[in-house]
Amino acid sequence: MTNSRILVDSLGRVHNNLRISVTDRCNIRCFYCMPNDNVQFKPRAEILTFEEIARFTRVAASLGVNKLRLTGGEPLVRADLPALVGELASVPGIRDIAMTTNGLLLADHVDALKRAGLKRLNISLDGLREETFQRISRRSGLDRVLEGIFAAQRVGFEKIRLNAVAIRGITDDEIVPLGEFARQHGLELRFIEFMPLDAENSWENDQVLSGSEIREALENAFGALLPIERRDPSQPATDYRFEDGIGVIGFINPVTQPFCSDCNRLRITADGKIRNCLFSIAEWDARQVMRSGGSDEQLVELLHDCILAKKPGHGIDSPDFVRPDRAMYQIGG
Ligand code: SAM
Ligand code: SF4
Repeated sequence: MTNSRILVDSLGRVHNNLRISVTDRCNIRCFYCMPNDNVQFKPRAEILTFEEIARFTRVAASLGVNKLRLTGGEPLVRADLPALVGELASVPGIRDIAMTTNGLLLADHVDALKRAGLKRLNISLDGLREETFQRISRRSGLDRVLEGIFAAQRVGFEKIRLNAVAIRGITDDEIVPLGEFARQHGLELRFIEFMPLDAENSWENDQVLSGSEIREALENAFGALLPIERRDPSQPATDYRFEDGIGVIGFINPVTQPFCSDCNRLRITADGKIRNCLFSIAEWDARQVMRSGGSDEQLVELLHDCILAKKPGHGIDSPDFVRPDRAMYQIGG
């Protein structure tokens, strides 16, 4: 590799964290992410192969990327995912591989994923009632998600975290039970504010149940939440511990408290487009470079172009905000 510069943008933000979407497909249809019907999935031939993902990752790692997160769509609907994890774990410089999953297929794959080198898991769980699960995902299966969580705990990942998107009018009464569940089972829990990335364009500011509202509900139920000092400034969540010492809870507040100034993340979509932000309206085509015989140096150049074009912030709160054309499942959350 001729170019070993790190991926630093015009504001000095160093990008060492790559989120890889391995598929745009999913086995459920969360309304905040995907349409319910007639989903336009990319044809398989347009999705990066494992070899292409590994090549791209090697190039990114040569520029200082050392943390990976596999996402989607639902990463576990992609066949042979542990083989990809194994390949990525052997890329020089990669020290951490995590995955975000809806948990439905997790119980069947936890052993193979752990053996392949997956270190950390985020499992999405927005509530503990099947009715809530169905209202959000428009499918059934909460019991399988819970099974997946317990299977992952038995296998012993370095960290298992629950991700809950909070939506006013839908999950308000799930907040405290989720807190209780996480405390009981020794799981870290993070609440995420609902972002305007749904496919049906129905997001409204009023639906955002803010991190501070959730915190208040939890404090009323469990007592004071005590802030935990942030060790990594690029971590999107603000973490707290319960005053009785049982459990850690985090808040990711992209809408009410954007954390863009410390963002260190870049993304590659399942069809091989590099993005410098979830909300970016521009993309850089790594697949085109790889499939037209382009060199690793050309990928390096593309990565630098993408990072240098990164905006200071996502601008959700600005009157000029333009939603990206692609919804969450097409980008990779
Ligand atoms: N299918 C996997 C899952 O659901 O965990 C991985 C992909 S999903 C797009 C990644 C994360 O983004 C999930 O925790 C999901 O709840 C969250 N998410 C999806 N759409 C969102 C939105 N509009 N606002 C906030 N979070 C969202
Ligand atoms: Fe599927 Fe995850 Fe999107 Fe829900 S949030 S539809 S589980 S990709």
